Amino acid sequence: MAAVSPSSHLNKAVRQQYMSLPQGETCQVTYVWIDGTGEGLRSKTRTLCRNPKIIEDIPEWNFDGSSTYQAEGSNSDMYLIPVCMFRDPFTLDPNKLALCEVLKYNRLPAETNHRSSCSKVMEAVKEHCIWFGMEQEYTLLGVDGHPFGWPANGYPAPQGPYYCGVGANNAYGRDIVGCHYKACLYAGVKIYGTNAEVMPSQWEFQVGPCEGIEMGDHLWVARYLLHRVCEDFGVVATLDPKPMVGNWNGAGCHTNVSTKEMREKGGLQYIEQAIEKLSKKHAEHIRVYDPHGGQDNIRRLTGLHETSSIEDFSAGVANRGASIRIPRQVGQEKRGYFEDRRPSANCDPYTVTRAITATCLLDTDEGEESK
Ligand code: ADP
Ligand code: MN
Ligand code: MN
Ligand code: MN
Repeated sequence: MAAVSPSSHLNKAVRQQYMSLPQGETCQVTYVWIDGTGEGLRSKTRTLCRNPKIIEDIPEWNFDGSSTYQAEGSNSDMYLIPVCMFRDPFTLDPNKLALCEVLKYNRLPAETNHRSSCSKVMEAVKEHCIWFGMEQEYTLLGVDGHPFGWPANGYPAPQGPYYCGVGANNAYGRDIVGCHYKACLYAGVKIYGTNAEVMPSQWEFQVGPCEGIEMGDHLWVARYLLHRVCEDFGVVATLDPKPMVGNWNGAGCHTNVSTKEMREKGGLQYIEQAIEKLSKKHAEHIRVYDPHGGQDNIRRLTGLHETSSIEDFSAGVANRGASIRIPRQVGQEKRGYFEDRRPSANCDPYTVTRAITATCLLDTDEGEESK
């Protein structure tokens, strides 16, 4: 059995006494932001003397960017700009989580702040009411980096019984999945559902449908909640797209997309138009579908294990080996949405939704970030 963290052994009954103390009129606000890796999340907490009602009630703050791979020590202050507020499922009402954009000393977006350019693209196409739903796959690990619940030496039985599996021999770590689901609902994250995945100790949750910039905001907060729930249980969630080499499925972040036109009667023709546009920009999309220009996803998009090859673009109805899948029901009803299966589990949803939106609706290269 994989090792769990030291803090998971602390006395949780003692903790409960302090967590239930009244706090008067004060409110704890935990600021959450993306660090310089483009994958890692950071957070810190402060007291407000009044309960914020809207995001504008939460003041700007700052942090030391030299400790988050975001700035040199000599000019290290970075700005935290709250953009989205959620209820805090760990400290409970009235306490809040505030997702933040990060600005540099000159108030320009930090290198890994892709929300800023994403929101401009979403603003430019808002009459299309673009919706997204993202399927976040992840793998549970012990603090030693070994998959949670796997034998210390050797492997579990081959893939087959684990996808949507039930029973102690098939489902590894469901407590975490259930607690994360509840935490998302409490916080106000638009979680759509969850399932056990093909590889043991691999799981998925979906967020959506979300319109425009809301997709990235809700997925990042759902990821924050996942890492925090895992911390409480003493295990680690990795978004690595291929945590185990060999005959084990990788982890993606399938991105489902629809515009108002696609959802209306006869919308299939708009879906086909979008797919045609995507087919011409395969390489550009692969470059922004993981934080390392495609280098992470290359381990996953092999053409095996329900993936398409990273080299080729393909599309098909009900085809889980294609880059783009049109769900069977959408093919039958001739309206609905399509699924881009290429994004890596560790993708930045702001980058992915920006690129898809720019390619399908703007006919420009605004999916590529202007520097
Ligand atoms: P799969 O069959 O690929 O495993 P899931 O059930 O895991 O699909 O996820 C479906 C996703 O599609 C959800 O995130 C949901 O929010 C999203 N979705 C459903 N309808 C739409 C739509 N019209 N536009 C965009 N996304 C949608
Ligand atoms: Mn799914
Ligand atoms: Mn899946
Ligand atoms: Mn899918």
